[in-house]
Amino acid sequence: MIMDDKKRTEISQLGEFGLIDKLTADFKNGNAHTKLGVGDDAAVIDAGRGLLLLSTDLLLEGIDFDLTYFPLKHLGFKAVVVAISDILAMNGTPEQLTLSIGVSAKFGVEDLQQLYDGVRVACEEYGVDLVGGDTSASVTGLTLSMTAVGRVEKRRVAYRSGAKLNDLICITGDLGAAYMGLHLLEREKRAFEGHANPQPKFEGYEYLLRRQLKPVARLDIIEALRAADIVPTSMIDLSDGLASDLLQICKSSKCGARIYLNRLPISRETYALAEELHADPVVAALNGGADYELLFTVPLAMQEQVMALGGIDVIGHITAESTGAMLVTPDGSDIALTAPGFK
Ligand code: ADP
Ligand code: MG
Repeated sequence: MIMDDKKRTEISQLGEFGLIDKLTADFKNGNAHTKLGVGDDAAVIDAGRGLLLLSTDLLLEGIDFDLTYFPLKHLGFKAVVVAISDILAMNGTPEQLTLSIGVSAKFGVEDLQQLYDGVRVACEEYGVDLVGGDTSASVTGLTLSMTAVGRVEKRRVAYRSGAKLNDLICITGDLGAAYMGLHLLEREKRAFEGHANPQPKFEGYEYLLRRQLKPVARLDIIEALRAADIVPTSMIDLSDGLASDLLQICKSSKCGARIYLNRLPISRETYALAEELHADPVVAALNGGADYELLFTVPLAMQEQVMALGGIDVIGHITAESTGAMLVTPDGSDIALTAPGFK
């Protein structure tokens, strides 16, 4: 499909086992707890001490990604980020990953090799071992299912349910850029529908594209928190959007929240494209999703320590459950946060 002019090898030429061997050949296990990866009926992981974390995610073509503008290598990278982000959100270290793929006839071996190149780059970057998966034919499009395994010391695990009254609400990175990047890609796709040689215009918005096409998992933050011996009272990764994810914390922790609009970290590029599209950058920040940044709470007394880590913004604090979750505008009015729900 993607590889019009280049070599195309049919999957049937390799067969299922040949394909798996080819795709997994360049992966090397690096974690001490990975006793056996690809090649047997099951991967073998040393349970060690502490808590084992397990999380699974599904990505469907046409629902979660569009291959007209999502390069397969980037998709492979993103699949790893999506999977390990949930382990990070428990304050854990991701160690192993399985990736199962459902593949339709439009994909050749070279396409899947690109996908796995992206998976490998991400695995190397985040120190995760690909230890297995499953491979099957599918009728329509590409399906990716990832299961991530991670580990955390008992005293460091961060649940959604631990936020306490007056805790600070902290956020990493900036919000809404991935969503604006998606808008840009969709706009250019519509403009060039049917063109043989599309020349989309992305100048000035590279940051937004990168946030959409090559998201970052915040392993660096988890490591920095550990090094500073800071244990968040609660944590969640920002996959659905700040409003929805903060409401999850409030629901699990039986608390309310006050966040301040003028403290939301929003990039210059997000503002610029929002203006161009007559969209609201704050809506992008609150409801956009797919930022894969971390939202966490810490006791008020830890403000200085947390700020010293860098790259973290305090956007508000935890309140009593009865007050609900509120966004405070610069003129001092309160707007109740709502989750737009399942997209
Ligand atoms: P089984 O029939 O026991 O499920 P498979 O032939 O499906 O075994 O898989 C053989 C090995 O290859 C297993 O270790 C499995 O985890 C791994 N594997 C299969 N498909 C993939 C894939 N798409 N990516 C990574 N590893 C895979
Ligand atoms: Mg199998």
